[in-house]
Amino acid sequence: MVEIECTTCGTDEYLRGERQPDDTIELTCEQCGATWIRDPRPSCARCGGTEMEAAPRVIVEKSRGSQMSIQGIQREFLCRVCDADQISARRDGHLPQRLPGSE
Ligand SMILES: [Zn+2]
Ligand SMILES: [Zn+2]
Repeated sequence: MVEIECTTCGTDEYLRGERQPDDTIELTCEQCGATWIRDPRPSCARCGGTEMEAAPRVIVEKSRGSQMSIQGIQREFLCRVCDADQISARRDGHLPQRLPGSE
């Protein structure tokens, strides 16, 4: 789920999105009537580039004992320039074999 809320009234429940031909999304708030354009294409915070790649990240939490349980999958974006290493590492295996920070 993408977290979007109306910039005018703050609701996140009455929003309707319509994809535009240029791949942006026009959002309409059915509560207050505001419309705005959301550009779903992210840009890199480090180099400002828009060559981003969606990368699913598995959210895992430790439950009882050493059991790990999958809480969900979050989509994050990696920069093809700054995160080239990570992108190629992710391509090797669909799910990470080792969890970050569990070493
Ligand atoms: Zn609104
Ligand atoms: Zn970058």
